[in-house]
Amino acid sequence: MKAIVYRGKNDLRLEEVPVPEIQAGEVLVKIDTCGICGTDLKKIKEGLVSAPRIFGHEMAGTITKIGTGVTGWKEGERVAVYHHIPCENCYYCSVKAFSMCEKYKVTGTTAGFEPSGGGFAEYIRVMDWIVEKGMVRLPEEVSYEMASFLEPVNTCLKCIRTARVKPGEIVLITGQGPIGLLLTQIAKLHGATVIATDFIETRLQKSRQLGADITLKAEDPGIQSTIKSLTEGRGVDLAIVATANSQVVNFAMESVRFAGRVMLFAQTHLGDISPIDLGMVCAHEKEILGSYSSSVELNHEVEEMVFSRKLDVESLISHQFPLDGFDKAIDLALHPSDTSLKILINMRD
Ligand SMILES: [Zn+2]
Ligand SMILES: [Zn+2]
Repeated sequence: MKAIVYRGKNDLRLEEVPVPEIQAGEVLVKIDTCGICGTDLKKIKEGLVSAPRIFGHEMAGTITKIGTGVTGWKEGERVAVYHHIPCENCYYCSVKAFSMCEKYKVTGTTAGFEPSGGGFAEYIRVMDWIVEKGMVRLPEEVSYEMASFLEPVNTCLKCIRTARVKPGEIVLITGQGPIGLLLTQIAKLHGATVIATDFIETRLQKSRQLGADITLKAEDPGIQSTIKSLTEGRGVDLAIVATANSQVVNFAMESVRFAGRVMLFAQTHLGDISPIDLGMVCAHEKEILGSYSSSVELNHEVEEMVFSRKLDVESLISHQFPLDGFDKAIDLALHPSDTSLKILINMRD
């Protein structure tokens, strides 16, 4: 089969690799669509992990082979697949910090090499604990493209819940790329007023279309006073940092009211050190929160949101590329244009 193999920092190649073998309790899924995620790009660009690997984890496709002992699934069924599922038995699972679970950290899908998702290949092997709890059957009217959003939507819903968004609150969301636009929509579904920022005007337009109440150009030097004037001089209740630039954290700290919250959603890298005014945390009682990855508890709610189209994921798709167009796809994802948002890879012949 064909796969995009990561061979080291900034080195991706379209290669011929064996179709993965499945074992008892596992299934083989033929991938139809896989979204390109910011975390894939970061690993590729910065060479953060060992090579070789096959990335891709926002996946949907069709079951083509069933291992012995698998019940409840059959060949030909259309599915979305999560690549991480927690054990639900350990200490961290008992306190609902599912993404800290040791089992959760083990990637349960692979197209070969060190398991890393595998969605940028024609077939993936789905391991037994994912078959049990991490596969989602797709209703007929749901496209593979829509289904490929389940994982990113889950991470965004988890973020909004962890940030305790309440109806009537004013929420600032920095960055209106595909993730920021999901956060905007989900914050609106929770009854918040959303102020969104970005550098790209077309992204702000999209943000307004999808429900943002106010959009601001990120480079506007008067942005801080605009935010204050929109909030009776106080600042927003919550600021969500959806951009990896750590300087934005200070902007967010300045933008929230006394006793407000700052949610770090894009600071996924340990060792990412940035000075912060600690007086704002103690004397001004501003909270700094973090949310990482998905929560298994939210799976059904996420499916309902996406499948019912309560959440518009389709209008976030700006480009789709075949496997052999991966270099263009990755390049566009790394260097967003005026019109690029979510970029998907399709495995269709
Ligand atoms: Zn992702
Ligand atoms: Zn666990």
